[in-house]
Amino acid sequence: MICKLCQKDKELSKSHIIPKAFFMHLYSERNDKPLMMIGENRFPKRRPIGSYEKLLCKDCEQKLGVYDNYAQDLLLKKSLDFFPNTDLAYIIPHFDYFVLKSFFISLLWRASITKLEEFKLIDAGPYEFRLRDLIISDSVGGKDEFSIFITKFDSKNEKNKYISEKSILFPAKQRIDNALNYSVFYLSSGYKVYIKVDKRNTDELFIKLILKDAMPMVILRMDNFEDSPEYRILLNIAKNNRELGHFFKSGQPVGNSP
Ligand SMILES: [Zn+2]
Repeated sequence: MICKLCQKDKELSKSHIIPKAFFMHLYSERNDKPLMMIGENRFPKRRPIGSYEKLLCKDCEQKLGVYDNYAQDLLLKKSLDFFPNTDLAYIIPHFDYFVLKSFFISLLWRASITKLEEFKLIDAGPYEFRLRDLIISDSVGGKDEFSIFITKFDSKNEKNKYISEKSILFPAKQRIDNALNYSVFYLSSGYKVYIKVDKRNTDELFIKLILKDAMPMVILRMDNFEDSPEYRILLNIAKNNRELGHFFKSGQPVGNSP
């Protein structure tokens, strides 16, 4: 089988599209059953061990694994500090720009090349080759190329906060910032990550937010999860889905239905 990254004929391993770690937090302590991936007008997809496909050889898998592990350690393992004098943003004073951006570039690339249904809205199109080139050449491209900004849902309501942290929605496309094209990824702990898939430059308003080399990382805190379109999507799906309905009522993890 041909590895999608190095394009050598090698045995392929099971590659996670979104690293398992970003699903792990969705597991219930009781029965090890994760939440489903859900999205508007689509059937929920149960992914007991995340979404994976045979895409990469062991060497390439290991290379991306380094990026995956770094992103996981940085974003999931520590509690975040508020930005000075505001609770509308978090700050991570020091991070490895190259490794973190490599993670998001490889995430976008994996989601774009996979045939799995839950990633069907992610299609980098002509940018797919560029993404692969960047990964192979250990580069993260120009400053405003595939620029990334990160937001995080939160809520004053404990139950809604819990739901925001445990829900994982299908990745999507969004047009913001003068209608630039972004791919949007939802990761556990309430993260919503925007990656620009557009040649045009980021608007000045957003420039402050994008990940930059040798600068602190700013994570926008969206503290009214219940006012977000994502919450409405969850609520609508919960109405028609027994397991999610239960989750919404109780705020408890979803178990496996018989
Ligand atoms: Zn390979």
